[in-house]
Amino acid sequence: MSAGLAWLPAALSELRDADLLRELTYCSSSPGPCVLLGGEEHLLLASNNYLGLAGHPAVLAAAHAAIDEYGAGAGASRLVTGSLDLHRRLERRLADLKSCGDALVFPTGFQANVGTIPALAGPGDVIFSDELNHASIIDGCRLSRASVVRYPHADADALEALIRSTPAPNRRLIVSDTVFSMDGDLAPLPDLVALAERHDCALMVDEAHATGLLGANGAGAIEHFGLAGRVPVVMGTLSKALGAQGGYVAGHTDLCDYLRTRARGFVFTTALAPAAAAASLAALDIVRDEPWRRDRVGALAARLGAAAKERGFRVLPTRSAVVGVVIGSPGDALDAAAAFRTERVWAPAIRPPSVPEGTSRLRLTVMASHDDEHLEWAFRALDAARASVGPTC
Ligand SMILES: *Cc1c(COP(=O)(O)O)cnc(C)c1O
Repeated sequence: MSAGLAWLPAALSELRDADLLRELTYCSSSPGPCVLLGGEEHLLLASNNYLGLAGHPAVLAAAHAAIDEYGAGAGASRLVTGSLDLHRRLERRLADLKSCGDALVFPTGFQANVGTIPALAGPGDVIFSDELNHASIIDGCRLSRASVVRYPHADADALEALIRSTPAPNRRLIVSDTVFSMDGDLAPLPDLVALAERHDCALMVDEAHATGLLGANGAGAIEHFGLAGRVPVVMGTLSKALGAQGGYVAGHTDLCDYLRTRARGFVFTTALAPAAAAASLAALDIVRDEPWRRDRVGALAARLGAAAKERGFRVLPTRSAVVGVVIGSPGDALDAAAAFRTERVWAPAIRPPSVPEGTSRLRLTVMASHDDEHLEWAFRALDAARASVGPTC
């Protein structure tokens, strides 16, 4: 091993022995209902392409046209020469969807979180963060160097007690996923909004798994709860239900003006690729015009969850496309995923640190493009997993 890296082989073995070493599976097709793995067709049951838009003809046509018009890459960061009128159209569209004054787009949702949070809180400030928030929120909190208070998952009363007992001479920020990425449940958003207003805290929410799926217009959980205009910092991603790539923050024009100068994940990176921006715009048209897609996702998730429960699995309550089937140990979760693969169904085991210890799981997701035969196929995989992991999981 190279100088200074003699520790690596032991670190690798330790991960391997604990069933925590991650390995990549390579797919040779787009994330449709079925994909090619090693030349064989598999049912895809773990993609975030919830509405089936990553391969939608209108989305692809928009991406192709943008490549012809604007090129493969934006060529520079937004603040130098990388800002395209296309980015602006997308930002206006996202601001309208989210009922906000303005929006700005980032190359990824991860960057939107790690760029925005440190711009809003710093040393001497306090951030209250749900214990199951996404890793990009956790990293954004760490980068901010604010003091971070983790509150029990989705527990608004505990949060209020912590707000009351935490001295805060300066700024305070509450941050939460709206739909939690690994569990699929909803944050108590009406309570968070009320708390934030009562205690003069800023509220930032991450709509990565809600945008396109929840609310009458698919605007997300804020719309679902009738809270449009009450959440000052709304983050989301273009990479999930919208089927493209990228992230965004929507809010008051002053917030966006400030972030354009202060969010390092926006400033020091090449602008969102033109194809991704155009694909997102086309996807937003479909979200507006085809509400059946979000309805179908909800119905499929309910049926899949019920089927897993019938087979004796511990299924987390879902309000989204995510059906969390908790298995327990990393090894058992790997066995369950392997059983799925024998039925040619692809849903990798999700293990710590993505989820808390003891809650390794199959994170199953449905897509609007799944039909009833796909669902039957998924049920056969659940049977195989049940037989493989035994009755205790
Ligand atoms: C996926 C995800 C992100 C990151 O978005 P990307 O666009 O994939 O980088 C942020 N927050 C949550 C809750 C997510 O699930």
